[in-house]
Amino acid sequence: MLTEKRLPLLPVFDTHAHLDDPDVSLPELLRELEGLRAVGWRGALCAGYGPERFLAGRALCEADDRVVRACGLHPEWLAAHPDQVTREAGWRALQSELDAAGVAAVGEIGLDRRARDAFPLASQLSWMDRGLRLAAERSLPVVLHIVGWHGHALEAVGRCGVPNGGVVHRYSGPVELVPSWVAAGLYLSLSLEPREDPEKRAELARAIPADRLLVETDWPLRDHTYGQAFQALQDLCAHVAVARGETPLEVAERSDRNSRALWGRPA
Ligand SMILES: [Zn+2]
Repeated sequence: MLTEKRLPLLPVFDTHAHLDDPDVSLPELLRELEGLRAVGWRGALCAGYGPERFLAGRALCEADDRVVRACGLHPEWLAAHPDQVTREAGWRALQSELDAAGVAAVGEIGLDRRARDAFPLASQLSWMDRGLRLAAERSLPVVLHIVGWHGHALEAVGRCGVPNGGVVHRYSGPVELVPSWVAAGLYLSLSLEPREDPEKRAELARAIPADRLLVETDWPLRDHTYGQAFQALQDLCAHVAVARGETPLEVAERSDRNSRALWGRPA
């Protein structure tokens, strides 16, 4: 998947990347983004993880208007911060950060079955419900992180609603549940996830309706600069195109249009 060869330049919006990662230097990243504009980079959604990163996300959005961001309490962040005092402080920080510039969505929020020992389902569901309700109150879309437990996640969405839509990022659920997610009002995003089975991804690429399909790097990826991941994202568009019987340009341009509709980005 992550190849060295240069593909034709495709205009692609990266709908999920952690550009506010603590290991990233903002000046270096800004230089890299500037270079990527020349090879098709249309921007990115910087996905939220936890309150420690809010400041970096804000600085990035202020420095580059092609980046929009989501703020949330990621299930992994909640699992890593089991004490209620820290979690509630994170929640308050999230609420106030939503007033800041550049925030286009609430997320990541969701469910992760891998964390079930440290963070049981009932507790994960209560935090997911809070996140969904907060997004509805703020009239914002959501960025959902769902690993396993797609049935529970769909129930949460049914219970709380997603009146402003959103995305299930790095969609890894069953192909059979694609229509349920689409009916719930969500976009589904395919990622570079190297462990992803290419056949399943091709099946998903065919099953997701054109007007709900997004693509993402989900960077950082081990041993890849953001520029290399972006190149691989263009590669992913070509794979999706083969699966759907379309051109890579059609896939890239439509994903860019879909992301504009979802995140309220200007053309
Ligand atoms: Zn993420």
